Amino acid sequence: MISEQKYWNPVLETLDHAKIRKLQFEKFKKIFNWAYERSRFHRGLYEKAGIKPGDILSFEDIRRIPAVEKSMMRGIQRKDPFPYGDALCVPLEDVSEFRQTSGTTGQPVYQADTWQDWEWWAESWAYILWAQGYRPKDRVFIPFGYNVFVAFWAGHYAVEKIGAEVVPGGVLDTKARILKIQELNCTAMMATPTYVLGMADAAKSMGIDPRSLAIRKITCAGEPGASIPSTKKRMEEAWDSKVYDHAGATEIGAWCFECEAQAGGLHVNDAFFLVEIQDLDTGEYIEEPGRRGKMIITALDRQAQPCIRFDSKDIIEWAPDPCSCGRTFRLIKGGVVGRSDDITKVKGVLLAPSAIEEVVRGMDGLADEFEVIVDKDGDIDRITLKVELLKSRENDHKRIEDKLKDQLRLKTNLGYNLEFYDYGCLPRYEVKAKRFKDLREKK
Ligand SMILES: [Zn+2]
Repeated sequence: MISEQKYWNPVLETLDHAKIRKLQFEKFKKIFNWAYERSRFHRGLYEKAGIKPGDILSFEDIRRIPAVEKSMMRGIQRKDPFPYGDALCVPLEDVSEFRQTSGTTGQPVYQADTWQDWEWWAESWAYILWAQGYRPKDRVFIPFGYNVFVAFWAGHYAVEKIGAEVVPGGVLDTKARILKIQELNCTAMMATPTYVLGMADAAKSMGIDPRSLAIRKITCAGEPGASIPSTKKRMEEAWDSKVYDHAGATEIGAWCFECEAQAGGLHVNDAFFLVEIQDLDTGEYIEEPGRRGKMIITALDRQAQPCIRFDSKDIIEWAPDPCSCGRTFRLIKGGVVGRSDDITKVKGVLLAPSAIEEVVRGMDGLADEFEVIVDKDGDIDRITLKVELLKSRENDHKRIEDKLKDQLRLKTNLGYNLEFYDYGCLPRYEVKAKRFKDLREKK
């Protein structure tokens, strides 16, 4: 019975490290060759760097290959064939899927996939779902607006692929979604952490305790919340459910996932992706645990619009120990801990927005929503944190404010201008929240 199988792919997920490396190396050479032969963009980039497919003899050689940045992908889209540009490696008629990035950091990037690529997406998500305990008996609710963003599309197909049942909660509003989950006894769902918390609030306002629903597994994406312990705890308690993280991106694929062991990190799908970590200051490649850097990633099997040494800006670090689940896929500690373009200096101190989230969500008496605004008071950086006080805790206002101040100072080394609001006053988001606003002029 497939349901009793511990791993989705028992061979690849337990392959020893040397064999995985060999597999990655062979696959890398193949995808590099593929792109070199078929894409004017890739060939141009590699010719300029003086690298041909035959030059790749070791992992050291891979590191000499120029990384691709998102801004380069935007540049190629003005070229033929419309609308993808000259990174496309297949005839246009072979493209079966259009997606685009959300454009939160600039003009959206269009992404083409063939049917084979799309099956690859679903397969990579099948690893995720199986590792998080999804089985054929599950009925999975997907409360997202099915549209041009990839979001949970591949998750939807993977639910079908593993033999579970999918309930697409597309255009329904939040209340209708909750009623549908209740009516059908759905056992699992997928959403951004912001929306998981928002749905729990909405259910309570309808007189439904989310813990009374049958949801016992929630897969998150889109924001780091499910890897931030205090946010994860809030979600798990609100739904009486396990909450698992996963990270993916339109241009990359679904590259890592948390497993049922919840080991405080995410497994990289080493069979499908080559992840390298590069020191932000020195450019060195980091093999040892405990040292943060930015991720350079290759999707080893994606063909229409390849992702070869993509500079994702995600900040990650290797975990010190293997996971107790038995998978040999490497773990990154604490998930994606930030983005190199998000981590900003305030009053000369490096600040990652996720550190503020960890503090706010760890405080009793505060609601889930918050907002951070960085601006200038004269020449000096000023950082304002807006939070909501729960109605039942209004008498504790002073004590909560003092504790919040201390914790923020301790965890981020910065002083804040705190603003308290009544519950429900800050904006609510359905997909990715925009909680961090830097209003200082960029130099
Ligand atoms: Zn594991």
